[in-house]
Amino acid sequence: MFDGGSPKWPDVYLWQAFAMPVPAPLESAIPEPFSRDRALARMATESFDVLVIGGGITGAGVALDAASRGLKTALVEQDDFASGTSSKSSKLIHGGLRYLQQHEYRLVYENLAERQRLLDNAPHLVSPLPFLIPIFGKPGVVNKSVARVYRTALWLYDLTGGMRIGRRHEKVTREQALEHMPTLQADRLAAGFLYWDARSDDARLTLTVLRTAVLDHGAVAANHARVTGLSTDASGQVSGATVTPDGGVPFAIRASVVVNAAGVWSDEVRAFDEGIDPHSIRPAKGIHITVPEAAFPCDIAAVIPVREDKRSIFVVSWGDQVYLGTTDTAWDGPLDDPSCTPEDVDYILGAANAVSTRQLTRSDITGIWSGLRPLLAPEQEGGTSERTADLSRRHTVRTSDGGLVTITGGKLTTYRKMAEDTVDVVVGALGRKGLRCRTKSLRLHGAPPGGRAEPIAGGVGANLRTDPDHLETARAAVLASRYGTEAPAVMALANGRTGLLEPLVVGLPYLAVEALWAVRREMAGSVSDVLDRRTQSSYRDARAAVDAAPTVAALIGPELGWDDARVRSEADAYAARIRSELVRAGLDPDRSTGSEGSGGTPPVGAAGGTGDSAGQAGS
Ligand SMILES: Cc1cc2nc3c(=O)[nH]c(=O)nc-3n(C[C@H](O)[C@H](O)[C@H](O)COP(=O)(O)OP(=O)(O)OC[C@H]3O[C@@H](n4cnc5c(N)ncnc54)[C@H](O)[C@@H]3O)c2cc1C
Repeated sequence: MFDGGSPKWPDVYLWQAFAMPVPAPLESAIPEPFSRDRALARMATESFDVLVIGGGITGAGVALDAASRGLKTALVEQDDFASGTSSKSSKLIHGGLRYLQQHEYRLVYENLAERQRLLDNAPHLVSPLPFLIPIFGKPGVVNKSVARVYRTALWLYDLTGGMRIGRRHEKVTREQALEHMPTLQADRLAAGFLYWDARSDDARLTLTVLRTAVLDHGAVAANHARVTGLSTDASGQVSGATVTPDGGVPFAIRASVVVNAAGVWSDEVRAFDEGIDPHSIRPAKGIHITVPEAAFPCDIAAVIPVREDKRSIFVVSWGDQVYLGTTDTAWDGPLDDPSCTPEDVDYILGAANAVSTRQLTRSDITGIWSGLRPLLAPEQEGGTSERTADLSRRHTVRTSDGGLVTITGGKLTTYRKMAEDTVDVVVGALGRKGLRCRTKSLRLHGAPPGGRAEPIAGGVGANLRTDPDHLETARAAVLASRYGTEAPAVMALANGRTGLLEPLVVGLPYLAVEALWAVRREMAGSVSDVLDRRTQSSYRDARAAVDAAPTVAALIGPELGWDDARVRSEADAYAARIRSELVRAGLDPDRSTGSEGSGGTPPVGAAGGTGDSAGQAGS
């Protein structure tokens, strides 16, 4: 059911087409409303009800909730939208099966309710995904107590709201489990369970929430604009912020209420207000690796136990790739650079190799990413555990004596509820409590009318694997899974130029025209914005993304007013950063792919080590 068909892209890539002129920049009979220049100009001259600091999923959600209640709303992001944690998650919209083990029933209930709302309100971006839990033991003999633990947890999950997806969990045979993951160690595999959750492209979800706030509800938003201080009125109440846009001069934004949605940086913003760093956040690093599907076949998602750590990792099908993650370790390094280390990589490889007959090595890895969970420090929650995996994923909203509203914690999945709770506080502060939340059934920009979209092969971001006769259909389906009803407009931007309908990055399901759309319609302003977030090319195949960087820079440079020297330096800077990230993770920056064999590095984690404990799959 999830087989995406086989033939790969045609061998011929029309890169030459990029040497030809691209369509002229959008003539503006109608000014582009999602424009950084226009947003900054308005921010400098107008007053707002709410200013949101931070353009991750939390800030985007707050902006949408506030704007859709009728509040005049502005948002600023210091880097690119979703450039913090919100492009580096496991990309799951889920209840969190493991939270049941921590007796967080209410959290799971809330997560599953939000999962359902996202499936309804953003069917173009969020799709159902089955998860396999393989049960190990003796072939054909299921350990009864292990099976009971899983069955009970999965029934609880279904009853807490999981069933709303329209499917209940089910037990599957060893053979059925092997159909989904053929390299599972058959001699130890006894059976499995299937349950349902959902997936999304986290960066695109964040961008879409924000574009909905701007395009459909009149908010203004600017990326690459950093808050460097807060302003206060005569009574000492926060009344706005000083913003320094990249390439511009600092200016003041006036706002009745300022919301701090700066994720792991939120203590820095609180320090502007409170004068000291409150140390309220305990950042927890999580990394993921990507390998070719051929190296670790899995056509759905799976939960793999890491016995010695009482945790689990996820394996998630991603078109021609599969990604695996995540780790969960305390991080006290620089917040802007949570680097992925060789030890992180080996942890994931070890977990995978312990259940697989095909031993992955570092040379199989095509992409990596590393993010920081903005977890509340245990003392904030009344907890005692030192393990970040045990810290709560709940969120809190607090208002300082100076009136700064800070939202911290939470999950990608629960952003809407987090935003509702935050804006409830904002409307209270504004004395406008009658403004009720409208986002429960508010459809996101591009949501197709009618019901839920069918999951496409490999889920969101599946590769364009098809035969040439059906290429048009495949392109349309893949674009629809990212742009919804805007897909025809993205396609139309190519204006008959076939080169723009070829892959942006060799082997990945993104089209060259998407880079143009990204700069014209989605406020992308750098090669990284395009290759890391508007598409997730570097996470899927970092070396191919590096190879594509000069082409991408040449494509977007004229749109952004770059001269030839700037085009070259932007591409070089991107390539240098990605290569350095690979090196720091212990990976060869020049190796193209190791999918054909075990390559130069020995396998990590000998096969046969893990057992059947009901571990915690953490995200
Ligand atoms: C490894 C990992 C896996 C995860 N998996 C999942 C999952 O599968 N499902 C799920 O539901 N959740 C998951 N999560 C959690 C989820 O990703 C986060 O809870 C969420 O992305 C946090 O979003 P945020 O907006 O609060 O933070 P961020 O995305 O970090 O956004 C904060 C933003 O504030 C900006 N900012 C900071 N300071 C300033 C300033 N001075 N001026 C302007 N802007 C500023 C930053 O640049 C940043 O973009 C995962 C997290 C991690 C780390």
